Amino acid sequence: MKQSLEEALRASIRTIPDYPKPGIQFRDITTLLGDARAFRRSVDGLVHPYAGLKIDKVAGIEARGFILGGAMAHQLSSGFIPIRKKGKLPHETVRVAYSLEYGIDEMEMHRDAVNAGDKVILVDDLIATGGTAEGAVKLLRQMGAEIVAACFVIDLPDLGGRAKLEALGVEVNTLISYEGD
Ligand code: AMP
Repeated sequence: MKQSLEEALRASIRTIPDYPKPGIQFRDITTLLGDARAFRRSVDGLVHPYAGLKIDKVAGIEARGFILGGAMAHQLSSGFIPIRKKGKLPHETVRVAYSLEYGIDEMEMHRDAVNAGDKVILVDDLIATGGTAEGAVKLLRQMGAEIVAACFVIDLPDLGGRAKLEALGVEVNTLISYEGD
């Protein structure tokens, strides 16, 4: 029987209880990435809403956003922007502090990665509290990007990330959600 996209993705994602600390259900997408069909269907699902649009750049959040974002950029014939943890990029950067489900950190991107008015899609594997994606939105907008949407394979709606991005005027697209955490 043909599996829906949601069923196929749910079956390919592994949940690790109490990682990286007690009470967190870690949604591990390495099993999805290792499944050729699930990986392809995920990327197809992520780019689907933007088919036919002119997207200048896909911005991926380190590290799992790089894997998904590289594949999306190829499919959309767009450029790719890496948004990285601080200290990793070699040229002049812009930096922002952001809050995590488990602490505070800083991320950065190259100052010349975006041209004013570029249409950009932001991608990561999962949105939880939305702190990481909010930081990336701020960086991209600071450099003049027009954020067309932010997309994620997994939404944890109870942690409020989608609502946080929508309140910033960002369209959010996700493929599956896990209620409760
Ligand atoms: P947040 O900033 O709270 O939206 O957290 C999103 C970032 O943390 C993403 O880069 C996710 O990969 C990672 N993350 C947060 N919670 C989880 C979780 N339960 N399972 C897997 N990754 C997570």
